[in-house]
Amino acid sequence: AFTFLHLGIFCSMFSSETCPKPRKVSQEGTGQASCFFTQANTTQRLREGDIVVTKSRSAIGCSDHSCFWPQSSDGIVRVPYVFSPDYDEAQIRWINEAMAEFEILTCIDFVNHTTESDYLSIKSGKGCWSHYGKIGGGQILSLMKKGCMWKGVIQHELNHALGFLHEQSRSDRDSYVKIMWEYISAGNKGNFKKSENSNNLGLQYDYSSVMHYGTNAFSNTPGRATIIPIPDASVPIGQRYGLSNLDVAKINKLYNCNRCSTVLDSPSGSLSSDNHTSKYSSSNATCFWLIRIPSKRVSLQFDAFSLKSSTDCKTEYVKIYDGVSQSSEVLLDKTCGTKSPPVVTASGRTVLVEFVRGGTGAATGFKISYSSGRSNPRKNGRESDANNVKSETSGKIIGQECPLTRKIKSRYCL
Ligand SMILES: [Zn+2]
Repeated sequence: AFTFLHLGIFCSMFSSETCPKPRKVSQEGTGQASCFFTQANTTQRLREGDIVVTKSRSAIGCSDHSCFWPQSSDGIVRVPYVFSPDYDEAQIRWINEAMAEFEILTCIDFVNHTTESDYLSIKSGKGCWSHYGKIGGGQILSLMKKGCMWKGVIQHELNHALGFLHEQSRSDRDSYVKIMWEYISAGNKGNFKKSENSNNLGLQYDYSSVMHYGTNAFSNTPGRATIIPIPDASVPIGQRYGLSNLDVAKINKLYNCNRCSTVLDSPSGSLSSDNHTSKYSSSNATCFWLIRIPSKRVSLQFDAFSLKSSTDCKTEYVKIYDGVSQSSEVLLDKTCGTKSPPVVTASGRTVLVEFVRGGTGAATGFKISYSSGRSNPRKNGRESDANNVKSETSGKIIGQECPLTRKIKSRYCL
């Protein structure tokens, strides 16, 4: 039997919390096709088509996809949510901004709950935790207001609710990380259990996943790592800046999203419409690139530019936003033709590039290089952080220890 206690960046003292009835379905993560049913110390695993029943409990399966959020006929997966009155305006803005990245990069839309029977009830409980997948009814997702208000932490919990497990629970993890069992106390070993039957969606192991534990997770010995990337131990793990490109790809695959989107999270790099052309089917008329650099301000420069011309660039254009969504301020309005646009500098670390392809005729497309420009001194001397949630200053939360209590068996604290 293993429990599902997970590394809490901030998980503490849940024992007094009311726990919704034994976790019905938990769709196991990284897009697994199997579901877990846990109660007390028992885990029942269900796979599509074949059900393994343990001990006294029978269980319903997830072969009917009941642990996924349903997809509407327009291809959008709407996940209703409601906030408890716990949060102030800024906290709601942070959570909404973390949600906005899903919405631009995937077909997941978090929508205000109205009459739907299944929804997320987001509250400031004790810690950051979520169930796996859709369990039915109003399922709690806890984002403690003092402790979970980081973009990557919020997205991590939302990703659990979509059905994703921790990255280092994948069936193939032993090829990528070494678990240092000697530094993990007996009561915490369950957190490092490998999921033998995980559905890895045909996508590679992702050290930079927002679902990966940090290197010191649950260490019982200060200074001793519990997870070491192999063969290169220096590869960073446990980031909580935001969804990685592979996190996004996995969501899009699991939920059959017809989305053309890329996350770029290096300090500098490039993107081009040529990649788009070769990578995606021509039926995709719109592509997005979310550039999220670790610090300072994003600066973009066009190295090549040739798009079909049209009146007001209606049919084919590039447009750049100062933030994570199309409702962010516009840095470069619809631009087409062959005149190279000027250098664009954002107010912060995040920029969204939109490319809409259409019209007739031929054009060679564009290439953009980006880098971190200088920081933006404000009057008080602090770096501008206008379009970034607090999460991006959050280096210190990573790898923080999690004081675990008993009785959390059904919960997935971060
Ligand atoms: Zn987690």
